[in-house]
Amino acid sequence: MAKQDLECSFCGRKKPETNILIAGLDAHICDRCIQQANGIVIEEAGSASEKALSNDLTLLKPNEIKEFLDTYIIGQDRAKRIMAVAVYNHYKRLLQPASDEDIEIQKSNIIIVGQTGTGKTLLAKTIARMLNVPLAIVDATVLTEAGYVGEDVESILSRLLQVADYDVSRAERGIVFIDEIDKIARKSDNPSITRDVSGEGVQQALLKLLEGTTVNVPPKGGRKHPDQKFIEVNTENILFMAGGAFDGIERAISKRLNMNAIGYKAIQEFDEIDAGNMLQYITAKDLKDFGLIPEIIGRLPVLTYMNPLDAMTLRSILTDPKNALVKQYQKLFEMDGIALTFTDGALDLMVEKAIDYKLGARGLRSLCEEVLTDAMFDLPSSEEKKLNVTKSYVDAKLSKSKLNKLKAVS
Ligand code: ADP
Repeated sequence: MAKQDLECSFCGRKKPETNILIAGLDAHICDRCIQQANGIVIEEAGSASEKALSNDLTLLKPNEIKEFLDTYIIGQDRAKRIMAVAVYNHYKRLLQPASDEDIEIQKSNIIIVGQTGTGKTLLAKTIARMLNVPLAIVDATVLTEAGYVGEDVESILSRLLQVADYDVSRAERGIVFIDEIDKIARKSDNPSITRDVSGEGVQQALLKLLEGTTVNVPPKGGRKHPDQKFIEVNTENILFMAGGAFDGIERAISKRLNMNAIGYKAIQEFDEIDAGNMLQYITAKDLKDFGLIPEIIGRLPVLTYMNPLDAMTLRSILTDPKNALVKQYQKLFEMDGIALTFTDGALDLMVEKAIDYKLGARGLRSLCEEVLTDAMFDLPSSEEKKLNVTKSYVDAKLSKSKLNKLKAVS
């Protein structure tokens, strides 16, 4: 066949009508068809990854999200329900088609109030694990306004980028947990007296991040590497969670409720108030009175609280979650072929000690270490194949020297 008679097997154009005609085994393809095909490939790949994202995320309905949380976190039902809905809505917002311009769904950033050790960070970690998205945990206390000693708020995103292995699009769908948000509360009611570098200034700086904006992020964080190139990160789809103990806020809540009750018909409501857990009555106004600026509160619209951990919850934290402490130690012993068991009395005593020394759930770990260290040292090289930890065993181990140290921690 003469060269000019060759034609594109897809569109039928003759060779002279094309810029390039590429030969395959039994067919030819022209430059136009290549371009068109390339367009189709890109489009398909795009919708495939969108589908992958939607498959990942729409699979779980709020009750399923809560069920997942239940396997790792004991109690805290209200917080888990609220989180499940907020996370579900957040990712629904992410999946909203770009063309749906008239209704813009706003972000559902979350603020969790609760004493230290009640599981706020654990909640954020569990959500990130469920969604398989990167999670950066940052401490608000190290942040300062730009230009002052400390870290700029952009360092939050540096952390997220690091966790996401510098995959910007993964980071842009990630979760940031800002711990100790209460420590950047406004110190005085009158902001004009002195510049409040570490409080209100940081809150102001955080605003644009929470709202959704494109930020130039120093990949390694900090200002120590002035030469580093910035990476652009869009915070539009990053879910922000903030947590804090807000020490003393209970008093403010009860004062507010009392004042309401003195007023008109709120008396009935007042009768039902559960004084042991005032946090359940928290409102945005309490956060504002504590020193968060209204703009920050507005950008953290989902407010929830954690219940204090009672003995029953602590007891169940020891044994029930998927990676409960007792299960973890049993696994460690099992690796040496040793069957580890605890009597109910032993577990109850550990819980009692955790409460006595105000160690909370975090203290359970130190207590377990205290009780089991001798056994973990001796048993691997002995013939012993089982260890049954009884109340008196716990008592004996805890009454030894280090108990005083635990006391010091509290
Ligand atoms: P917070 O962020 O509120 O200070 P964390 O989430 O860091 O508290 O909790 C500390 C540890 O205590 C967790 O790693 C977890 O082992 C345990 N813990 C706390 N609350 C719970 C809970 N409700 N269910 C299971 N474990 C918990």
